[in-house]
Amino acid sequence: MTATAILRQHLIDPEICIRCNTCEETCPVDAISHDSRNYVVDAAKCKYCYNCISPCPTGAIDNWRHVAAENSYSLAEQLLWDTLPQQVAFDQATPAGANSAAALPDEVEKIAAASTAGQGGAAPPPWSAAHPYVNLYSIQKPAVATVSGNFRLTAEDASSDIRHIVLDFGNASFPVLEGQTIGILAPGLDTDGRPHHVRLYSVASPRDGERPRYNNLSLTVKRVSEDHEGVAVRGVASNFLCDLKKGDKVNVVGPYGTSFLMPNHPGSKLLMICTGTGSAPMRAMTERRRRKSLPGEDGKLMLFFGARTATELPYFGPLTRLPKEFIDINFAFSRAPGQARQYVQDLIRNRADEVVRLLRDPDTYVYLCGLKGMETGVDQAFSDICSGAALNWKILQAELLLQGRYHVETY
Ligand code: NAP
Repeated sequence: MTATAILRQHLIDPEICIRCNTCEETCPVDAISHDSRNYVVDAAKCKYCYNCISPCPTGAIDNWRHVAAENSYSLAEQLLWDTLPQQVAFDQATPAGANSAAALPDEVEKIAAASTAGQGGAAPPPWSAAHPYVNLYSIQKPAVATVSGNFRLTAEDASSDIRHIVLDFGNASFPVLEGQTIGILAPGLDTDGRPHHVRLYSVASPRDGERPRYNNLSLTVKRVSEDHEGVAVRGVASNFLCDLKKGDKVNVVGPYGTSFLMPNHPGSKLLMICTGTGSAPMRAMTERRRRKSLPGEDGKLMLFFGARTATELPYFGPLTRLPKEFIDINFAFSRAPGQARQYVQDLIRNRADEVVRLLRDPDTYVYLCGLKGMETGVDQAFSDICSGAALNWKILQAELLLQGRYHVETY
């Protein structure tokens, strides 16, 4: 009897997908493409690297069907779907081939593989995280928020315009947790005449709102006027948000995120590392702890925060006023006049003893958010300080990931 090759086909759920383009941008082998209706995966190109899984804000990307290899769903079929097809039952399923079901890593290996590749986003949430609500508002039915504040966080003469924007949801229910993101629908059309795709921003306020007991949240938004290489570009959503006035309306989708969440159990410690506007979720978590500060919930907070100068650092003033016994803050300034360049990873090395003590503690939860480039630098710093303390960072990192204690959100 000839064995049937069973393919575990990677598919995108068209009902949940918010068409944010993140997966297409992430895929290293161009297996993901889209038309005006759907995002789709080419079974002949997908190499099962899982790079696209953790960046997807909704989980729409994480769908799989076992199919006979010769009957895999074509791109033309996927482009017409409104919903995913049901799993077809097989009476004979003998896996064969590199991409067959038997050849695929199980969940544990997948996460360990992600850690080896330095991509930490695949971790489950901390065991004591609150339940996050996701996908409450879609592109078809967004929530309409009203701007109740728009304040510049950086000095007037600073090179970057970073803003603290407060959105009020009125009577609409829009529950968020620290670490979650929301999607902004900028008005207008792109150069192809299509609506702009969703842009994601981390919530910068704690779960009870920017102003406690008001139905609002805040965002930290940098006006994008150039790309990472310094080439002039006008960021569609960031400019829309930064120009908003009090009373203006904004279409919001989400919330998203079920992994990058904070622990709630007494004594849990947070090791937070961020650059620039990657500080948004760290501000939310710090503010949650500051407001709550119940006896027994006083686990250590340690923050490494990188910016060009003090005047470019969002929330610099309020941060410096927090008591040292509440949070151990380490600022890394890369372009402070008259000073050698410092990155967050340099300060992690300087504070090796304390960081290793935290990493060894089973109640420590690690969060990285900001520029993609810092991920490698921080990984190397962790590796160096661990080897100085007879710890194997790769093994520790894989454990942290599996235990929902290592969370990465970099762009
Ligand atoms: P930025 O101002 O360009 O950079 C912040 C600091 O990071 C600077 O001191 C910079 O130094 C330094 N840096 C550059 N490369 C580094 C590296 N390899 N390792 C360590 N530090 C490095 O930052 P930004 O424009 O605010 O960017 C923040 C990132 O966070 C963006 O990618 C954004 O998408 C992301 N993010 C934003 C949000 C949000 O809600 N707004 C949420 C999550 C993530 P030099 O430039 O002097 O080299």
